Amino acid sequence: MSKVYITKRFTFEACHRLDKYAGKCSNLHGHSYKLEVTISGNVNKNKRFVMDFADLKGIVHALIISSHDHNYLNNLYVEPTAEHMAVGIFNQIDKVIQEDNLLNADLETKLESVKLWETEDSYAEYRGE
Ligand SMILES: [Zn+2]
Repeated sequence: MSKVYITKRFTFEACHRLDKYAGKCSNLHGHSYKLEVTISGNVNKNKRFVMDFADLKGIVHALIISSHDHNYLNNLYVEPTAEHMAVGIFNQIDKVIQEDNLLNADLETKLESVKLWETEDSYAEYRGE
């Protein structure tokens, strides 16, 4: 068995404003967010994938992209900082991954991290800790 980490990247456009922030982020503005979702699992000669990338894409689109893309994030989060969003996104995906594991015990997949890039050089990462 070899433990392997797979990552899939997504993008979405959304706007927010940070009410309690004394700076330009208190004004309504938008970001082109990048989201990286990392899953781990075991592979061997009989098990080729940690998780089919197409399945991961389906889960993240259904749970996150469909609700976040071109939305006003203050409708989804009390305080839509990259940090709070990373935690919220992690928890939503983790619930489904854990349910899938209950249905099929040999999947042994685990959500390792969610990285949410707010700009080209800034991201928040949550690992469920
Ligand atoms: Zn912002």
